[in-house]
Parts: sequence; structure tokens; C-alpha cells
Amino acid sequence: MAARQLAALGLDVVVLEAHESVGGRTRSAQVAGVTVDLGGTFVGPTQDRVIALAAALGCRTHPTWVQGKSVVRWHGSRRRYSGTIPRVPVTTLLNTERVRLLFDRAANRLGADGMGRSEQDEISLGTWLTRVRAGQGATALLAAVARTTWGCEPDEVSLLHALRYVKGCGGINRMLDTEGGAQQDHFAAGAQEMSLRMAAELNVYTACPVRSVRHTAGEDVVLETPHGDLVARAVVVAVPPAMRNRIVFDPPLPSGYQALSQRWPQGALTKAYAVYEKPFWRDDNLSGQTLSDDGPVFITLDASPEDASRGALLGFIGGDYARRFDALPQAERRLQVLQCFAELFGPAALQPLGYIDQRWASEPWIGGGPTAHPGPGALTGYGRWMAEPVGRIHWAGTETADVWSGFMDGAVRSGERAATEVAAHLAVRTTDDEMAANA
Ligand SMILES: Cc1cc2nc3c(=O)[nH]c(=O)nc-3n(C[C@H](O)[C@H](O)[C@H](O)COP(=O)(O)OP(=O)(O)OC[C@H]3O[C@@H](n4cnc5c(N)ncnc54)[C@H](O)[C@@H]3O)c2cc1C
Repeated sequence: MAARQLAALGLDVVVLEAHESVGGRTRSAQVAGVTVDLGGTFVGPTQDRVIALAAALGCRTHPTWVQGKSVVRWHGSRRRYSGTIPRVPVTTLLNTERVRLLFDRAANRLGADGMGRSEQDEISLGTWLTRVRAGQGATALLAAVARTTWGCEPDEVSLLHALRYVKGCGGINRMLDTEGGAQQDHFAAGAQEMSLRMAAELNVYTACPVRSVRHTAGEDVVLETPHGDLVARAVVVAVPPAMRNRIVFDPPLPSGYQALSQRWPQGALTKAYAVYEKPFWRDDNLSGQTLSDDGPVFITLDASPEDASRGALLGFIGGDYARRFDALPQAERRLQVLQCFAELFGPAALQPLGYIDQRWASEPWIGGGPTAHPGPGALTGYGRWMAEPVGRIHWAGTETADVWSGFMDGAVRSGERAATEVAAHLAVRTTDDEMAANA
């Protein structure tokens, strides 16, 4: 996004991408003729920047399938329910709503910069859940939220980071809901299409990891790659914070930047898809949406193509479940996922036309997903170094965004912010209107 905006201002921009293809944490694949999103998938209301980008590029979205009943598997029993509130014991529901209100209230009280009382950064989300007496049921539900949101267990993420993150999404419901929330729509041709279309208009080198970034005595930076050096007037580093440490900076970055990179680990979230002749669960009036207090698959969604010419089930495996699952051989992973699907939707789920899973924690240039989970102390200690430029080095990437950080929308916003910064740095004449028109 940064490259797109700077190129539109007439600058000579080169994109260097370590992987063989562009897209990063958005990667689409074909399974039995169906396009599936292995990483970022859904968009929803208030994610205005990614929606504007998609519209500018002609990438079409359609609503996520929600018709029919959802299923909850709780304490070993399986129940159907309508709407977004799962049929778990009423005490669990009441307690979860109480905890949600407490959480949203604390998030709303954060200052304009998203920072709160420093003691909120001294404890984890898990410790807070114990302090507010969340109880077993509500804790299990919020653990599922932590696993999908940060790819970690509640004890692994700072309370302050969790509050700030959710505030940037507009509250827990906006972040979690399908209709009216962040899962409302998805891309007909896969989310990666946005990057592919942008790349087609830019000067992009793939399979080209940047090994080092060196400030010269003059006004330049030199980027070292396996294909040779590149000299630039400014650089935007748009990699996950933990991946910044794979680049050698010369002179070394101030110590706060290195600590940030070490204390901002990527989560573990794996996605698995099974594709079938048809979405057979719809015949049983099931939406394909499920929530489970047991793994490895703990959330599912219907990811079938718009015309239902095939059926596709998407399963999420996150946090500790993902760490155990990711270490298994492919055949065992497939078996475990299909067994989970069969427990939720019946034995037909055991016979897919195709299966795929994507373990983001094994990706060498990404390190995990969906985003990072800084633990206690990281945000107040090192957060200020997240986006602060160092000489000719500027920072982008979803983790640097204040709004919808961790999401595709945050990634787009961060690219826009970095482009504005670089343009100012290089004193390129532009107006806000021109920047918006380029989006
Ligand atoms: C399983 C999963 C599900 C998700 N679901 C959603 C969702 O439904 N909705 C949503 O909005 N978001 C979702 N996300 C998050 C979303 O995908 C990310 O927020 C977004 O794609 C991040 O974009 P980015 O450009 O900041 O970083 P990335 O996509 O991580 O891009 C960084 C790029 O830098 C490259 N790189 C790293 N090091 C180097 C180097 N040294 N030299 C050159 N290149 C390098 C990497 O290869 C990568 O391509 C999900 C993510 C995952 C993993």
C-alpha cells in the first residue's frame, strides 16, 4: 500500500518480498476447484480503508454464509442455537456478558493514544480474568477469543494490549460478530487478489529477502539482497515486528527497537479447509458456524463458494492447540480435523474431495499469525518504538496501526501512514486529497 501510494506520487519505488509470491498473511489456494483463504479472509463495517482499496482494485466481496442454526460443543455435548449467542449454561452466558461489559468499559476508558494505566500492562488477560472472577465457562469462551484474535492463550497477552487492540476494532462484538462485525464479508476470488493486483502495477521482486539495511555516510540507505544491493533514499520496512530482527541494521537500531522485536512474538493460528461435493450441512439447516470448548478445531465457518457449487468447511486451530497440531504429520492433522468436522456435522464430513491446512507459525518470513501477542510489560516498555522512524527507515505493517491493528484494514492504514511519512521526509509535494485519491 505504501509502495502504491508513493509510486502514484511519481517516486521510483521497488518492493522487495522474501516469499515466492506477494500477499504475506493473505494467501489463497485452490482445493478441489474452490478458492480458499489460508490467512486473512474477512472484512466488515468500519474497515473502511481495506474496503476502499478492494473497491479501487475491483476485488469483489460477498456476505459470509450465516443462514441456519449454529452448533456449540460444550463439555462434551453438542447443541444447536440461533443468532450469535451460543447455547451454553445460562450462568456461563451471564458471566460472559458481565466480563465483556467490564472489558469494553476498560477499553473505552483508555486515553486517546490507546494507552491506559501502566498496571494494566503489568498483568496478562488471563490474570485479569481470574481477578474479575470470570469463572470456568466465561474463561473458556474468552480463551477461544484469544486463540483466534492473537493466536495465543489468555496468559500470553498483556491486558493493556488486549484492551487497546479491541478498542481499535470498536469493541468485542464488532470484532467477533459475523453480521455487522469483522467476519461479515469475504473476497470472491480470495483476499490475496488485492496484493496480486497491486503488484501487477508495481516494480516487485519476489523471493528477494532483505538481509541488511545500511545507512550510508551520504543521504542513502543500502539494502542487501541475494540478488544484489539496492540504493534508496528511504525504506519502508513492512514485516511483522518479530521479523525485524532477521534484518541486520547498520548502524544497529537503538536498543528499544531490538527489545520490541523480541517481545512482540507472532501467535499460532492454523487454518484447515475440507471441500465437499456440496454444503451438505445446509440440508440439515446448519450454518456451518460452530464453537467448541475442545480442540484441535474450536471454531468453524462455512467457506463455500457463493454459488454453492461445492461445500467448504473452515476450521480454526489456535494457541496451544495449534502448537501441538502443527507438530503432527500431515495425515494425522487431516484425520484430526475431519474427525472434529464429523463430530459437529455428521459422518459425511469424513469424505472430502480435498483438504488443506496452513501452519503460519512455520512460515519463515512471517513467524505466525494472525498477529503478535505482546506479553505483560512489552507495550508500555517498548510500544513507542513500533512506528517511530529511525533515520531513513520507516515502519509499516498491521501491527503498527492504531485502528484495526492485526487485520488487513490495519495493514492498509499503516501503508497509507508510512507513505505520508516518506513523502514528507522526501519533501514530495502532495495533499491529503491526492493521497486519498490514490487509495
Ligand atoms: C490464519 C489467519 C487468519 C486471518 N484472518 C483475518 C481476517 O479474517 N481478516 C483480517 O482482516 N485479517 C486477518 N488476518 C490478519 C491479516 O492477514 C494480516 O493483518 C495482514 O495480512 C498483515 O499484512 P502486513 O502487510 O502487515 O504483513 P504480512 O502480510 O505479514 O506481510 C509481510 C511481508 O513481509 C515479507 N518479509 C518478511 N521479512 C522480509 C525480509 N527480510 N525481506 C523481504 N520481505 C520480508 C513476508 O514474506 C510478508 O510477505 C489473518 C491472518 C492469519 C494468519
